[in-house]
Amino acid sequence: MSTAFDSVVDVLIIGSGPAGVQAAIHASRKKATTLVVGKPTGSAIYGTDVDNYFGTGSVDGESMLSEGISQAESTGARFILENVVSSGVVDGGFQIGLDGGDVVTARSVIIATGVARTKLGVPGEKELFGKGVSYCAVCDCNFYRGRRAVIVGNESEAGMSAEMMTGYASETSWVIWEDGVNPVLLDKAKASGVSIFRSRPVSIEGEGKVERLVLEDGTVIQTDGVFIELGARSAADIAMDLGVMPEMDDSIKVGADCSTTVKGVFACGDVTGKPWQVAKAVGQGCIAGMAAADYSKGTI
Ligand SMILES: Cc1cc2nc3c(=O)[nH]c(=O)nc-3n(C[C@H](O)[C@H](O)[C@H](O)COP(=O)(O)OP(=O)(O)OC[C@H]3O[C@@H](n4cnc5c(N)ncnc54)[C@H](O)[C@@H]3O)c2cc1C
Repeated sequence: MSTAFDSVVDVLIIGSGPAGVQAAIHASRKKATTLVVGKPTGSAIYGTDVDNYFGTGSVDGESMLSEGISQAESTGARFILENVVSSGVVDGGFQIGLDGGDVVTARSVIIATGVARTKLGVPGEKELFGKGVSYCAVCDCNFYRGRRAVIVGNESEAGMSAEMMTGYASETSWVIWEDGVNPVLLDKAKASGVSIFRSRPVSIEGEGKVERLVLEDGTVIQTDGVFIELGARSAADIAMDLGVMPEMDDSIKVGADCSTTVKGVFACGDVTGKPWQVAKAVGQGCIAGMAAADYSKGTI
């Protein structure tokens, strides 16, 4: 990967996950000077397997990213393994500051920063991650066919995941500890056979794999999986500095061409909202890459 870059680029992509890398492949194929800033190790698929992406079977995320980066580099895209620490609007484009101290000017910017899953913060969560602790019911539901699953979270997302999980798991529970849960979702979950518990989780336990979830009121739920569905945080600050107001959940709303409300700023992947899936990230990456290249060359 190169660290040298022009002082003005056509397309600057923030994030080197599936969305950013796919955007780089399509922008660079349109002959736009393309720079990607971000660490592949920060991608949600780094260190995990993807088994529902078209035509690949089960593939490890690290290989996917490194192959994708080689493809993008072969058509001229360049990658800098740093984080963006500042962003702003200047005459004719945008100015992006990197944590190494460099500042790059870009005619267009693609925000592909993904989301950071909100952690529950209880003992066992980190130790048993990937061994029954998951942050993505949509991704992992298939592994819970005929097994027991607990969904943890107070938001609508958790309720929808609980209802969906009843189509897979032999027993599904939903743990809620805050008021204000959507009553319609609660009724739907109950009607689907979900057991509701109302107490804060205090620990996830098991020998080498998840075996039980312990609640503050002393309840112990025997389970094979704990799905933490607490929502996510995203790089809303970058967006706001570029003049784009994020949604209430910090996602960035985009049009069919992945454009935002600010001309020249595009977004793709998890940062644009659910579903958080590789297939959607690369689809939007393709669209954003081409649209940003066209924008920076003045063809749209
Ligand atoms: C455990 C797990 C299992 C999963 N399994 C599946 C699955 O089986 N199938 C599936 O389709 N999906 C799965 N997903 C979801 C999938 O990983 C995401 O949908 C996908 O990675 C989104 O791609 P993205 O490029 O939008 O974001 P990400 O892949 O998260 O990439 C974001 C990039 O932005 C960078 N970044 C963030 N902030 C900055 C900044 N300030 N400056 C520079 N760079 C920045 C990060 O370092 C990273 O490079 C899974 C997710 C997890 C966590």
